[in-house]
Amino acid sequence: MGDRTVGVVVRILPNSEQREGFHRNFGCVRKAYNETLGKYNALYEKDNSIKPTYTFLNKLMKESKKEYLYLDAMESTSLQQAVRDLSSAFDNFLKNPKHNHPKFHRKKENRNSFRQTIPANKKIIDKNELSLRRYGKIRFRTSPEYMELLNSDDIKFNNITIAYDGLNYYAIINITTNNPKQLPLTGDKIGCDINSNRNGWLVTSEGIKEFFNVNHENQMIKHINRLMSKCRKQSRRWKKLQKRLQKYYNKRTNKLKDYIEKLTYNLVKKYDTIVFEKNYSTIKILIGGEQNIIFPLSGFIQRLKNKFKWYKPDAEGVVFVDAKNTSKKCHHCGHIKKELKVKTRKWICPECGMELDRDVNAAINILNRWCLGDSLENTQ
Ligand SMILES: [Zn+2]
Repeated sequence: MGDRTVGVVVRILPNSEQREGFHRNFGCVRKAYNETLGKYNALYEKDNSIKPTYTFLNKLMKESKKEYLYLDAMESTSLQQAVRDLSSAFDNFLKNPKHNHPKFHRKKENRNSFRQTIPANKKIIDKNELSLRRYGKIRFRTSPEYMELLNSDDIKFNNITIAYDGLNYYAIINITTNNPKQLPLTGDKIGCDINSNRNGWLVTSEGIKEFFNVNHENQMIKHINRLMSKCRKQSRRWKKLQKRLQKYYNKRTNKLKDYIEKLTYNLVKKYDTIVFEKNYSTIKILIGGEQNIIFPLSGFIQRLKNKFKWYKPDAEGVVFVDAKNTSKKCHHCGHIKKELKVKTRKWICPECGMELDRDVNAAINILNRWCLGDSLENTQ
């Protein structure tokens, strides 16, 4: 198993002094980028087919540092990163005609972020605190799984990006891990039926039903939208409400993310093989109660696959079977009910009298189809 590089996103809680410093740093990175680009344009306006090297751009940036002393006072690896970003923007432009010539970064259009490189063998995480050059210790929050990973001894820190989305601050911690903690094989298999109904969006062959709801967040979003429609646009109250609205949107997204992370981890921990129907990529599940949010199943499957690769590389992992008749067939005797309506929630077999939840019956069929090696040829 080779080295694996991953970016772990955590929510950080900087104090007011650190926040102020971050915003200055965002501005300086933008300034370094724009100044370097401006200098390059002034020199080579007539011929932009010459690809500037990183070294050359860095030289231009160093000249700007002499002109603007506040740039010189800034954390230097974040400014170098700006030059690296500009250099790759030039790369893209010269490689692909679809890309535009690098443009100036504007405060409103561009994401507020800066990146620091981390010296080799330096540990920047201590429990739930990360230490950032120039800014000191900052508390952060993440899932127990990532907390354990970030605190483990066999990872190497590469770089860290600090970003602000208009509401919260985040750190994207880029790490290389050469010895991910693997989970033991259990030998267990499970079938999963995916639905978009109120019976649970995911139902397993063991009868477990998964629900996810963000009703509270949805209600708040609806409520704030109603309040906003009564205000004058861009007024002080409107802006305040907009911030609150963003807070609930973020909350909803984060809740979904957390939920998916936890669920996929627990599934991979418990089972070596997880069987789904083949047509999954087209399914978009509506979850979250009345005002639904659309959740692409392909994203969920991808997370599962990644976790298998990472935690259980020797397991069978995510597998698929043909979807035909999985809900119309009795898992017990094999009888096929042709006239099963979508509304009918309970499976009652006219042949053997088996009574079971409709989706659980389907999930068992999905699992059996995989276990019996049923392929496209011998499904009816
Ligand atoms: Zn039956």
